[in-house]
Formats: sequence, C-alpha cells, structure tokens
Amino acid sequence: MSATAEKMRHGGFDVDLIRADFPVLHQEVNGRPLVYLDSGATAQKPEAVISAMADFYRHDYANVHRAIHALAERATRAFDGARARVGEFINATDTREIVFVRGATEAINLVASAFAVPRLRPGDEILVTELEHHANIVPWQLACERTGAKLVVAPMDDAGDVDLDRFEARLGPRTRLAAISHVSNALGTVNPVKAMCGLARDKGVPVLLDGAQAMPHMAVDVQDLGCDFYAFSGHKLYGPTGIGALWGRAELLEAMPPYHGGGDMIRRVTFDETTYADIPYKFEAGTPHIAGAVGLAAAMDYLDAIGMDAVWDHGVALLDYATARLEEVPGLTILGSPAHKAALISFTMDCAHASDIGTILDQKGIAIRVGHHCAMPLLDHFGLGATARASFGVYNTMEEVDALTAALYKVRDLLAG
Ligand code: PLP
Repeated sequence: MSATAEKMRHGGFDVDLIRADFPVLHQEVNGRPLVYLDSGATAQKPEAVISAMADFYRHDYANVHRAIHALAERATRAFDGARARVGEFINATDTREIVFVRGATEAINLVASAFAVPRLRPGDEILVTELEHHANIVPWQLACERTGAKLVVAPMDDAGDVDLDRFEARLGPRTRLAAISHVSNALGTVNPVKAMCGLARDKGVPVLLDGAQAMPHMAVDVQDLGCDFYAFSGHKLYGPTGIGALWGRAELLEAMPPYHGGGDMIRRVTFDETTYADIPYKFEAGTPHIAGAVGLAAAMDYLDAIGMDAVWDHGVALLDYATARLEEVPGLTILGSPAHKAALISFTMDCAHASDIGTILDQKGIAIRVGHHCAMPLLDHFGLGATARASFGVYNTMEEVDALTAALYKVRDLLAG
C-alpha cells in the first residue's frame, strides 16, 4: 500500500496527499501553476504506476509465455497477475474473461469483428444511443457495411438522458446487440445501464458497455451490471497508454473466432490448418504490452487503496461546486443536465468560440479540452460544432475550480462586446 493510501486509510480522503503522488502536476505552465482539467481525455499517472513500470523494466522484463528462463517466468507471473487484478477490479468471475487490448477502441472493434459480424445478416440491427463516442459508433457502422445490417439509435433528450421507454422500443426482433456508453464523455451522463441491460436481456439481446469514462469515476461490477461485454482503457484510469481490457462472458468469448492472427494465439499451426489457443489468449496475437499491464494493475491498486467510493464522492463534490461556480459566469451555458452525472462539464460561452476559450485558459496554465470530443452526433443534437470541456480527476481541488471560474470571467472581459 502506498504511503498516501496508508495515511488516508486513517485520515479519510486527502486531495493534497493524492496530489503529492502525481509528479506532473507540480509544474508551472505559462508562468502559472498547472491546473489539469483534461482527465476525461487522459488521466495523469501517480508515482505508483510510473515506478511499477520502471521497476518492471529494470528488474523483471522479458517476453511472456515463450521461455523458461527466470526473467520470462517473472514477467509471465507479473502479466498473469495483472490479468487477475483487472478481473478482481471489475468483479469478473473468471480471469479468462479478461482480454488485454490497446484500449476501449480496440475492445469494441474486437467485439464488432469477432462477435457481431459473424452473426449479422442483412436487415439485422445494432442499437446504440445518441450519446456515443465515435469509438462506439464507427466499429458498428463498419460491421453494418460488411453485413447489410443497420445501426439504430436510441435518442437522448435535451437534458442528455436516454429515455428507457424509447430505448426499449428500439429493442426489436432484429436487434442483435446493444452498445451503450456507461458514461458519456461529452456530457457526463451516467446512463442507467443496469436497467438497460435488464431490458435487453428480457429480449435476448446481448449488451456491450463502453466503460472508458465510467471506470475512472466509479466502482464497476460487471456481474451486477448484467452486461455481456465491458470495454475500457487504462490511460483514463491513471494507468499507461496502449493497454486496456475487454471483459466478455466466457461462453461468448469461447464461441467467437480470433480477431487477429499471429504468435501466442495458437495451439498448433501447420500449413494446412491452425487450431487456436483457449480464451483469452486466442484474442491476444503477438507480444502484448506487458509493462502496460503491470502499470494498469498498479493503477488499480492505487485507486482501490483510495477507495472507489471516495473517488466517486470527490468527483461529485467537484462537479457540484464547479457547476454552481460556472453557472455564475454571464453568458456561459452548461450543456445537458442529466439525472446522473460524472465529474465533467461541457459548456459554451456566448462571447467566445470553444477554441478561443481553450487558448485563453492555456495562457493561464489551465488545461481543458475543446472541440467535438469525438461525439459529433451528440453535438449535432444541440446544433453545436464544439464545446469546451472541463473534466475532473482524483487530484483536482476546489481551488482549481476557482481558478477555472476566474479565467472564464477573464475570457468574458477580453471577448464580450
Ligand atoms: N469511449 C468513450 C466514452 C471515450 O471517452 C473514449 C475516449 O475518449 C473512448 C471510448 C475511446 O478510448 P480510447 O481512445 O482510449 O480507445
């Protein structure tokens, strides 16, 4: 357990202790202390993750599975241990249900190619919601193009909520899969995914949940949610880039063909025929991101030591405070007001384009994201091409919200008529 976690176990959530664990935060940008409000794009890394990866490279690094020397055994143990850690973090029943991938995008593409395409016939349907990230739209469009199936969209209202009745109405006899974001990266909406999974299950429709934005904010229990696939990225979860996981029910994964071919995913190869390894290896062709898996496991240890409930509570406190402060700023409009929301705020200002807001904030050392957030259909709903988005992490403070608010007043002073 890290020193921070040990202290917090006795003293409760302490954001100053957490901040001390993130080396990158302790710098000035454009002459001001860095205020990092872009964790929705990618989260910063605690020392525990950085040193777990560095230690692994320094002491234990080798390729996994393919040798019997000591380093290979240690590396294999670390890699297998990381898989078990991921399973434990999301409460999977079986470690074989965890497939390491590059991130949520690859996880979704894997399911689209290896689960959906072989099952789809012309006229079949894939159901998504209007809230999806492009990573949970385009792979299904590709699958539809290959099979003659079509994409059906459950609409959201102006608050940014998907109405359950309208969702259920679109679960038809031809629906072969529902693919739903657990949390929207553009609005912060926490979808009622457990209820959605229940509705889909009643109609025999499997569900993939895109957990890229949910995992950093809340405890995720794939059994409790009742989904069939869950996809997420390590880098949004305070872990490294280039690693993530797909969780899938064992019986579904077992029935799926491989996604990529190559080393490590085979049982036996001849020029006439190849037989495949068992799950999850069947889906993991080639040398995996071994150190990434080690770093991801370290990130999960770090978050569990803080406690995911405390992480969620801190996000809610930041969100409530930031919402109240931003609402004070004249001419600023917060996009959406969903019933349940994670710690991010998308907004526009009547006096400034989103990119001007981002540029002025950067001059003050404040990092936010501007643009379409890879959710163009969602922005189309609101008739917008871009918003500014402040997204919060475990290390953000109320003082940083004050700095953001003050900078937005400055944007107004500079740009309003
Ligand atoms: N889904 C959502 C909701 C996201 O926010 C993102 C990234 O922003 C992704 C999927 C894709 O994640 P990655 O780029 O790590 O694969």
